[in-house]
Amino acid sequence: MEFRDLKKQYQVLKTDIDNAMQKVAAAGNYIMGGPVIELEEQLADYVGVKHCITCANGTDALTLALKTLGIGKGDAVFVPDFTFFASAEVVALEGATPVFVDVNPHTFNIDVISLKEAIDAIENEGILKMKAIIAVDLFGLPADFTAVKKIAKQHGLYVIEDGAQGFGGRMTEGIACSLGDISTTSFFPAKPLGCYGDGGAVFTNNDEWADMIRSLRIHGKGSNKYDNVRIGMNSRLDTVQAAILQVKLNAFKEHELESVNHAAAHYTKLIKQTIGDAVSTPNIPEGYMSSWAQYTLRLTDASLRPEIQTRMKEDGIPTMVYYPTPMSMQTAFNGLHKYVDTPNALRLSQQVLSIPMHPYLKDEDITIVVDKLVANIKTGK
Ligand SMILES: *Cc1c(COP(=O)(O)O)cnc(C)c1O
Repeated sequence: MEFRDLKKQYQVLKTDIDNAMQKVAAAGNYIMGGPVIELEEQLADYVGVKHCITCANGTDALTLALKTLGIGKGDAVFVPDFTFFASAEVVALEGATPVFVDVNPHTFNIDVISLKEAIDAIENEGILKMKAIIAVDLFGLPADFTAVKKIAKQHGLYVIEDGAQGFGGRMTEGIACSLGDISTTSFFPAKPLGCYGDGGAVFTNNDEWADMIRSLRIHGKGSNKYDNVRIGMNSRLDTVQAAILQVKLNAFKEHELESVNHAAAHYTKLIKQTIGDAVSTPNIPEGYMSSWAQYTLRLTDASLRPEIQTRMKEDGIPTMVYYPTPMSMQTAFNGLHKYVDTPNALRLSQQVLSIPMHPYLKDEDITIVVDKLVANIKTGK
């Protein structure tokens, strides 16, 4: 069994994807070709935001957002302590200071009480200038943007939505990738909407910022590529990736998002019936929808995790740990001051276990995964 079956997806979409790739090969506009511009319009339309600017990957998308907002040395940016490294890496790379905030143990997303504590700590210290909050839609579930936006407004902070895992999700405030002042996503193959290599996008309603992002992604271009008005990047989405994404976006809208939600509901039902005391299933708050980048359990007894993983592997079922280390404990952030405690992030890093999840997972596969999980948790006890 595959953890995320991209080969199965290709088999289903093969005719359209092959045609799309061949068309690009024949047309020859390999950089910034027609499909890139079309895809940007389709993505902006789907998300309900005025501008979508594609780029080379989800990490660059975040960097483009930070550069556009003028974030750099002496600035504080609040980032959840439990996320993929890139969410905080980009802040440090721009010379700004990531301030780690604890997460909610049920949603895995930024905890607003901890966020307020971190804001108070920065204010009291009076050294760093607070600029932005990066809220991450972890595992496909949008963060609590109602609360995050309220706090941001009170303190004059920008909200950046790291929607690398969130594309397709939604909450009361709207659709994922429309929820920040600037939102970003990734088209890394295993993300909810993935291409056949690296890719990413930035979303915003702000015309000036959109112009700035379009300039920054092509070497800080002015009126043309050889008129360089600022220091920028080389961060474009390849035409062939855009063409592939056009096919995949249709499948995503037509059936994949619905299929992952069916799979998740089926997992949750079976797991609650059988081992509901040994694991907690993902929690989707009222008014939210996940795009299920991951289906992540929390083990009641974290010490069983290594053995469960080994046994599952022996049974041919891949499992993953996203993420084994909180950001603040990463070697790369050694010596960085920690303003608030993040006990939930640490606890989650010990408890979490992700099981196979993708739109082509059949009910029979789900039954097998749960049966093996039940057996392996019981023998582990
Ligand atoms: C994958 C990911 C990124 C980075 O995306 P890339 O396309 O791999 O650069 C950023 N943030 C989060 C939360 C991610 O999961």
